[in-house]
Amino acid sequence: MPDAEQTDVVIIGAGPVGLALAIELGQRNIRCLVIERNDRVGLSPRAKTTNVRTREHLRRWGIAEKLREASRLPPDYPSDIIFTTRLNGPLLAKITNAMNCDPRRNDLYSESAQWIPQYVLEEVMRAHAVTLPSVEIRFGSTYVDAVQDECRVTITVLCNLTGEQQSIRSAYVVGADGSRSNVRETIGAKMEGTHALAQNYNVQFRAPELAKLNPHGRAIMYWIINNEIPSVMGPMDDEEHWYFVAPRIADTSDLDPKDLIRRATNLDFEMEILGTSPWAAHSLIADKYSEDRIFLAGDACHLHPPFGGYGMNMGIADGVDLGWKLAAVLQGWGGPGLLDTYEIERRSVHQMVIDEAVANYNALGNHLTLPGLEEPGSVGDATRCEAGDVIFAAKLREFKTLGVVLGYRYDNSPIIVPDGTAPPVPHAMIYRPSAFPGCLAPHIWLGDGTSLYDHFGPGFTLLASGEEGADALARAEESAKARNFPLKTLQPRDSRLGRRYMAKFALIRPDQHVAWRGDVLPEDLDTLFDCVTGENC
Ligand SMILES: Cc1cc2nc3c(=O)[nH]c(=O)nc-3n(C[C@H](O)[C@H](O)[C@H](O)COP(=O)(O)OP(=O)(O)OC[C@H]3O[C@@H](n4cnc5c(N)ncnc54)[C@H](O)[C@@H]3O)c2cc1C
Repeated sequence: MPDAEQTDVVIIGAGPVGLALAIELGQRNIRCLVIERNDRVGLSPRAKTTNVRTREHLRRWGIAEKLREASRLPPDYPSDIIFTTRLNGPLLAKITNAMNCDPRRNDLYSESAQWIPQYVLEEVMRAHAVTLPSVEIRFGSTYVDAVQDECRVTITVLCNLTGEQQSIRSAYVVGADGSRSNVRETIGAKMEGTHALAQNYNVQFRAPELAKLNPHGRAIMYWIINNEIPSVMGPMDDEEHWYFVAPRIADTSDLDPKDLIRRATNLDFEMEILGTSPWAAHSLIADKYSEDRIFLAGDACHLHPPFGGYGMNMGIADGVDLGWKLAAVLQGWGGPGLLDTYEIERRSVHQMVIDEAVANYNALGNHLTLPGLEEPGSVGDATRCEAGDVIFAAKLREFKTLGVVLGYRYDNSPIIVPDGTAPPVPHAMIYRPSAFPGCLAPHIWLGDGTSLYDHFGPGFTLLASGEEGADALARAEESAKARNFPLKTLQPRDSRLGRRYMAKFALIRPDQHVAWRGDVLPEDLDTLFDCVTGENC
């Protein structure tokens, strides 16, 4: 074999998680090589919601607008969820502004969510990643295995075209290689939980007439509530291309997709089946996320049903968390304990999201139906009214997720400095901004129309929320410079900041979470900087 190629980080898998990590590293000039066995990104139609937090990351990377432009649905397309007995049946319930896709400004966040297929997001991320000089994506290459010693990892990669094997050496390897992760096997990690909760069946189809025949008007999801064919459907890229999901199907081997869709819609229209895919829903989490220099991220270490739209989005957040930490260590300002905090911080979030997703998956169209739901007349009307209440009670939490999406925190982490105050009470649906250490930094829109986040630096940001403190900020800048700690200081002079942050100063991490807050900067700033960079944990 020829001499091994060298890089800093090898990422296995150019799915959304591998691409997110490559961008985090590439934006910090860290050399990374992404190995992808397919010849392009975006092969399968899976996630459709890019949530508020993921879009905030896209904004930080400078590509949020690109994703908006990539949508073939009009910007005012409503992100409503319609519940009905059949697509042409009576309305049972309607949830508006699901997932916070409404593009109007909201002080709670810098970007609204977006209904857009995962394959479009992946293509936008890929196109951006390859503009970063330190990032290379190598398609048509399959990861085979890895060996590691104290200083590096050597992986073997197979070129799909020539069958040749190649060695690549790097300081770190990250397995973002999805649910059947080979990297997970390499490190001997086991998935724990419940395999195959149930089988499900997806169909993609083209039906140019369907939007006109649909009596409910525009929405992103139509939940079909009945015992015969409980299902979910909606527009995919535009109003011609649709997805259809029949969850919890006992046997997917002999299904006629056209028949399923006709029964769910109760409409007669021309349709072209573009693809079908059976898939299993799991509730699994890896027993370890790393071994020495090899890490797992995304579906490789956590899997749950896609109800609630968390999987891809949570995986992208893994890439963000691991990305800045790997960069910190490689650039020499991250301490020896920093990389261990990746699992500490992310595992509790994954566990919480798995519980949410499984609960959502246990409330499907057949669980929400009532006897006589499709009966005509006033008796049926009364039943449908009652079903509406049942649906709201069971499903609102699945589509009003801001408390989960923005409200998770890392206060169990050794690189977060507790301030002795009581933590905010978590709520799945309601996000209450808080600068309690470990929380996402509270957002505001500033007077000049920019987002507070637009002013944060690529490293840490020391935010002064009041008028005073210029001397303290100068002192912090000096201390940071003396020890190569990447720090930007910021004093936006907006009176709302003091109320939002409840402290005169807050130290914000590269991923926009609060690492420390206080009214007075510590005399010994080195101790603070040591703690938040994992130097002494
Ligand atoms: C039907 C469905 C609907 C979903 N809806 C949502 C949703 O609305 N919102 C949401 O957030 N999530 C959703 N998800 C989940 C989401 O699709 C996944 O969580 C996400 O794709 C995980 O990204 P990943 O990068 O970790 O893995 P993947 O997307 O699986 O990417 C892994 C990549 O690694 C490559 N690879 C694997 N092995 C090797 C190897 N040996 N060598 C080289 N390359 C390799 C693969 O080719 C692939 O490109 C849904 C999933 C399904 C099935």
